[in-house]
Amino acid sequence: MSNGSSAQGAGVLLAILRDGHARTRGELARLTGLSRSTVSQRLDGLIGQRWVLPRESAVSSGGRPATVFAFNDGARVVLTADLGATRARLAVLDLGMNVLAERAEELPVAYGPEPTLERVVTALGELLAAAGRDAAQVCGVGVGLPGPVEHRSGRPVNPPIMPGWDGFAVPEWLRARLGVPVLVDNDVNIMALGEHWAARPAVDHLLFIKMGTGIGCGIISGGRLHRGAQGAAGDVGHIRVPASEAQCRCGNTGCLEAVAGGGSMAAALREAGIEAHGSRDVVALMRAGDLHATRLVRQAGREVGAVMASIVNFFNPSLIVVGGDVAEAGEQVLAGVRETIYSRSLPLATQHLGIRVSALGERAGIVGAAVLVAEHVLAPAAIDRAVAG
Ligand SMILES: [Zn+2]
Repeated sequence: MSNGSSAQGAGVLLAILRDGHARTRGELARLTGLSRSTVSQRLDGLIGQRWVLPRESAVSSGGRPATVFAFNDGARVVLTADLGATRARLAVLDLGMNVLAERAEELPVAYGPEPTLERVVTALGELLAAAGRDAAQVCGVGVGLPGPVEHRSGRPVNPPIMPGWDGFAVPEWLRARLGVPVLVDNDVNIMALGEHWAARPAVDHLLFIKMGTGIGCGIISGGRLHRGAQGAAGDVGHIRVPASEAQCRCGNTGCLEAVAGGGSMAAALREAGIEAHGSRDVVALMRAGDLHATRLVRQAGREVGAVMASIVNFFNPSLIVVGGDVAEAGEQVLAGVRETIYSRSLPLATQHLGIRVSALGERAGIVGAAVLVAEHVLAPAAIDRAVAG
């Protein structure tokens, strides 16, 4: 028990218990191949740090209730921030992904990194207090940013709508103030993580399409987030749409985002003399019965579906989740997406393909940010170290 590897196996036990089922020592020994005495020692370590709670099982065998062990998902909390172009959603979640406190507020990233992140730190402190938790229970911070993020460093790279953020050391800046691990990723990636968690355990190949002011795709492949070599995977918003010459903010013409993004739909409405400033306005107009807005939303669904049809043939997902502000249009946008995907993808690829709107809605980002942190903090090697230390 004195050497550095003395807690080896603790993390594996916790990983098994994270499915929510309580188990006996004997069951855990069988599942891991560890001896019963090792299982007992590791459980003591996990209980000592409140990762695991023992309790008497309701079902007794041989007349004597057995002790079972369960993951204590309320023992630690995660602070999360899902930053959009102009609005932020901030929340405190436990490790069961239960939202303990949350808030959405106007917070334009164009303020620059330090003023924006100062506000995030203040708001998260207020939410932590509102949740009745204290800083000692915080195990990490998860942040989603509305632009490309280099995975290795967690820093934004040439983000088009985030002036002053290029290369800013977001993880280090927040860690210096909050004192816990900070994980940063692109907003679409964290939404994909959130939806994958919500769709567990059966869905291993999932595409999350965010339709908002911009358009992006988060990729879950083989149960894991696929970021690509630098973290740029899934940037479908700048795939060229045939026969379009629409000017895109990236400098090219004919990008998917330039024909189907919320910004382009709002611009089309303004040209028709209708007041609209972004994707939320477009959806609000559609809900109010504006036919022009309804046509634009349906057509945006078709344009996105046409690009996704090729991606479905290439990637063969079992589920496509449509999220973001425009997804609030529900069937109006899904109808267009489905129509083009089912008519243009290969029959084998669409045979069992589900296409639906986000189950988590506006919470997809904060849940995904908490999943990102949980996977880091609860990784078996990290738990072994925590229990040994
Ligand atoms: Zn573009």
